[in-house]
Amino acid sequence: MKIRNIIPSCQTIPLIKPFITALRKVTSIEFVMIRVLLEDGTEGVGTASPTVVITGDSLQGIESAVQTILSPLLIGREIEQIAALSQTIQHSCIGNTSAKAGMEIALFDAYAKKLNVPLFQLFGGKTNTLQNDMTISINETDRMVKDAVEGVKKGFNALKIKAGLDVAEDHERIQAIREEVGPLIEIRVDANQGWTKKEAVRIIDGWEKAGLNINLVEQPVAAWDLASLKYVTDRVNTPIMADESVFSPKQALELVQMRAVDWLNIKLMKAGGIFRAMHIADIAQAGGIPCMIGSMMESGTGVLAAAHIAAAHPNIKKIDLDAPLWLKGSDFKAFPFKGPTIVLSEKPGIGYDFMENSGGGEA
Ligand SMILES: [Mg+2]
Repeated sequence: MKIRNIIPSCQTIPLIKPFITALRKVTSIEFVMIRVLLEDGTEGVGTASPTVVITGDSLQGIESAVQTILSPLLIGREIEQIAALSQTIQHSCIGNTSAKAGMEIALFDAYAKKLNVPLFQLFGGKTNTLQNDMTISINETDRMVKDAVEGVKKGFNALKIKAGLDVAEDHERIQAIREEVGPLIEIRVDANQGWTKKEAVRIIDGWEKAGLNINLVEQPVAAWDLASLKYVTDRVNTPIMADESVFSPKQALELVQMRAVDWLNIKLMKAGGIFRAMHIADIAQAGGIPCMIGSMMESGTGVLAAAHIAAAHPNIKKIDLDAPLWLKGSDFKAFPFKGPTIVLSEKPGIGYDFMENSGGGEA
């Protein structure tokens, strides 16, 4: 079935509260919704979210890449040749991983609808139920403790605490949160490249000596600095995860071969699509390294596509897909992101009806 048209549109959804990391503060999200129309009227939808400080992709850049680079190469092609279409997308230009990912999500949604299966079953269908975590923004310690306790009260068993703006305060904040939420809650710390290698070792060592039982530490040092990532991994017992250091399957292979980290964090917007996200999970599996799947602060559609992959791939063992829980509105009806449990729809494709105009409405 031929692709008849591809229509990108820019949309905005405000956040319930600001999202603050060592890299940025966000109060609303922007994204490009990409609709793929097949000749028989089947519609696939994907979204691409800009994160200029991580991927370099801007809203206008994504829209332009879809309109001027990707669409002309895809319109008129057969949806059944989706692996070849993916190759076309990947070879169309350097970078632009968010536009590539959003485009491929839309193609997969249309393809799975044609086959009449939900996306996660198309990929192997390990489960339809996932346990999500809740991210805690960087704030004053009291506020972070309050947010953490609130997350636990809502039923989250795993918290991802943002750190990396101030080493001295990071120690105190994590200690205060652990004391308040008790020993049974899984605590993941994400420094978003905020520490030097020696700061990282010192602070993680401090948490180990204090018995805080930190489940993992994500991206302690600069994304480009794989040697320092390995330095930290080799010197602490706490598992270390790469996030901003791993965009592509090639980078995953390098990290695995170096034994630079214990975990990889896969995101569709970094990887450039579903096929490449799966390749990263495969490479990590071959090297005995488990993966988490995460997202940027992005729309429900993109995050839902990531959830389908997590529900299918055996090497994706942790879920960090709480971005839609921060949105004051939705890009599709019957919003599945509410509490800690994500249950995927049995409907074909991504499995939800999309809003005609997603901005603004309450979830
Ligand atoms: Mg991260």
